[in-house]
Amino acid sequence: MKRRTFIKAAAAATASLSLTHLSACKLSSKVDVVVIGAGLSGLSAARELVKNDVSVLIVEARSRVGGRTYNQPANTSGAIIDGGGQWIGPTQSEILALAQELEINIFDTWNEDEAVGLFEGQRLVGAELDSDPETVEDLERVITLINEMAVTVPLQAPWDAVNANSWDAQYLGDWLDANVQMQGARDELEAGVASILDAPSSQISLLWFLFYVRSAGSYQILQSVEGGAQQYRFVEGAQQISIRMAQELGKRRIILGEPVQQVASNQKHVYIQLNSGVVEAKQVIVAMMPADAEKITFSPPLPQARSSLQKNWATSSGFKIHIVYPSAFWRAAGLSGQATTDTGVSSVFDNSPASGTSGILIVFAEAGQLPNDKVQRMQQVVGTLVQLFGNEAATPVEYIEMDWAKETFTEGCESPLSINVLTRYGHTLRLSTGRVHWAGTEAALVWNGYMEGAIRAGKQAATNVIAEL
Ligand SMILES: Cc1cc2nc3c(=O)[nH]c(=O)nc-3n(C[C@H](O)[C@H](O)[C@H](O)COP(=O)(O)OP(=O)(O)OC[C@H]3O[C@@H](n4cnc5c(N)ncnc54)[C@H](O)[C@@H]3O)c2cc1C
Repeated sequence: MKRRTFIKAAAAATASLSLTHLSACKLSSKVDVVVIGAGLSGLSAARELVKNDVSVLIVEARSRVGGRTYNQPANTSGAIIDGGGQWIGPTQSEILALAQELEINIFDTWNEDEAVGLFEGQRLVGAELDSDPETVEDLERVITLINEMAVTVPLQAPWDAVNANSWDAQYLGDWLDANVQMQGARDELEAGVASILDAPSSQISLLWFLFYVRSAGSYQILQSVEGGAQQYRFVEGAQQISIRMAQELGKRRIILGEPVQQVASNQKHVYIQLNSGVVEAKQVIVAMMPADAEKITFSPPLPQARSSLQKNWATSSGFKIHIVYPSAFWRAAGLSGQATTDTGVSSVFDNSPASGTSGILIVFAEAGQLPNDKVQRMQQVVGTLVQLFGNEAATPVEYIEMDWAKETFTEGCESPLSINVLTRYGHTLRLSTGRVHWAGTEAALVWNGYMEGAIRAGKQAATNVIAEL
């Protein structure tokens, strides 16, 4: 037997073995489509399918819906804490329309008054934080260049950009080193990249970053509060969108607490193994990050390029800290609650509720910059807040952390793709594999990586599946 024939035969044997195994299990139900993952993407896909009279079952690993959006329980304050995705912007039409349809209110991100900085022990306020004119000029020049390059990246196929190969072989950090003249501008861009993809520019492909910029509209849109990705928040927390979609779909269409491990398909059907039995469907939508999909065994095995995409999908694990106070006391001092520091706390924002009933600061920190011990970490964070906002910051009513690195069913929050991944395997991001279709925000053309992208990718996968039924 030739080597290639042998491999084919082996693959077929694996597939039929799995199918035999699955069909020997108790068949729990039959539906048109199984959606794996009840994040915004999977729920949006299911909603679209149901609207088109398609029978659907959503299977979710966690005991809750919402995936990377999560209303964290607050013990004493009763505040709504967004442990995951939270901000949306005015150009994100799908999530705005969905929120309106589900009667979920949004409000403006608290963004008035002066920001504060703390560098080498020195506290700077408002205009003292402004960069010198040469730095500002350099920054503007480089951002314009980034936007101009991003426009040449086709959303549908970034790997077809004229400069795709050279840009994907280059780290963003090397490109910035070669193109930014002022150290202050370089530092600001590094902080900007970290706030977008939660990783250093030295680890990110230039092509991937340009695609990300194109997908959102521009570097400024990604970065801004007003007119940008951070303009609004949800009054009841971002997870409420998924909760409301799940309520609308009804309990009979959603199974929680079922991590799918195996998906097997043949010419006619696809079988999804659950603890309680096997579900037979005509098509399946996998609505999650490629790195999460890697934990599912497919038979027949996925094509090599898709498998390599999943294996090489880089992830960054987010860490959010909320500090709750009885009131937003910093506003009385003319401060916005926004800050940047070099103490390990990279940035601070006012994350108070719309009602104004309490004052909440959100702290972002770079990996490895804060102590491992929780008590020491809290002391360092609160100590920094005291230096920034005064003694009232010393007595929070609650300190709440969310560490996404500890989440079994989320490999990462954002995707800082490395070099040569997009050009080699990117074409499989949205390419269906037989009866298996891919959703999740990472499959989106527009607002890839964001909640908006999750909804768009889910709806697109549903449209593709409907065409196949
Ligand atoms: C800390 C943080 C901050 C963020 N900030 C913002 C922000 O401000 N604005 C913004 O727009 N976006 C933000 N994001 C990103 C945003 O939350 C995501 O883009 C979006 O929620 C992704 O939705 P999704 O449905 O594509 O994927 P997910 O939400 O990841 O959903 C995938 C689902 O699949 C489930 N699953 C995984 N494996 C299996 C399995 N084997 N079987 C069954 N189910 C499985 C998971 O449990 C999960 O529920 C942030 C994310 C994080 C974590």
